Amino acid sequence: MLQTVIETLDLKKSYHTEAGEFEVLHGVGFTLCQGEFVAIMGPSGSGKSTFMNILGCLDSPTGGVYRLLGEPVEKLSPDELAARRNRYLGFVFQGFNLLPRADLLENVALPLLYAKMPSARRNKKAMEMIERVGLGPWAKRQPNQLSGGQQQRAAIARALVASPSLVLADEPTGNLDTQNSDEIMRLFIELNRQGLTLVVVTHEPDVAECALRLTRFRDGLIVEDSLLAEKGLKPRLRN
Ligand code: ADP
Ligand code: MG
Repeated sequence: MLQTVIETLDLKKSYHTEAGEFEVLHGVGFTLCQGEFVAIMGPSGSGKSTFMNILGCLDSPTGGVYRLLGEPVEKLSPDELAARRNRYLGFVFQGFNLLPRADLLENVALPLLYAKMPSARRNKKAMEMIERVGLGPWAKRQPNQLSGGQQQRAAIARALVASPSLVLADEPTGNLDTQNSDEIMRLFIELNRQGLTLVVVTHEPDVAECALRLTRFRDGLIVEDSLLAEKGLKPRLRN
């Protein structure tokens, strides 16, 4: 049976603002199994990033339950959350977030440095991952010497290098043109076929249609959660 990677039950998140308590997530129930590829859509301000930050152990919920690989995380300390983050999760952001004065190899190897892996093994694993995303010849380049699409592929290599259980990508193609965006989505499709579990937030239908499941947020709640195949949609960029 497939392992449940993520489970949220009645998940809530409020912020304290000058105007008082402001609830952004009103009780979100979401289950994600190993090998799934989910696109999260929804209007700006509907709580997608807030939800992703909680899934990513970057932020804590104010109500409900979040289980990551079966373990409830809402009672973990910040250090314990950081440990789960490093061990189980990989992140891809809209702005690539690569270190500007480090080359690709150093950037991709960074999570392994945090994991205290010795340098020779670190560089070998990072180089393997750089080759897997098609950037072998550019390993010694700095990010500003690469195109946006190449930088995002490097960020994906960095997200994958420590063999996470789940990759979370928030608007990963938001800064890319159509050709580079399709290239990134082809890479995600290939990685998912090889077994990677993926959650991608996007406001672009073309990007969402590369996933296998679509989860739609509105006003801090999930209002739709379905498989693309059930909707009669043929997934994009798959042959
Ligand atoms: P999305 O990613 O769907 O555009 P967000 O999760 O970023 O939405 O934001 C959802 C709502 O939460 C917005 O109304 C936003 O203004 C509010 N919000 C996000 N972060 C904070 C914060 N740190 N303090 C107060 N309000 C916040
Ligand atoms: Mg957002």
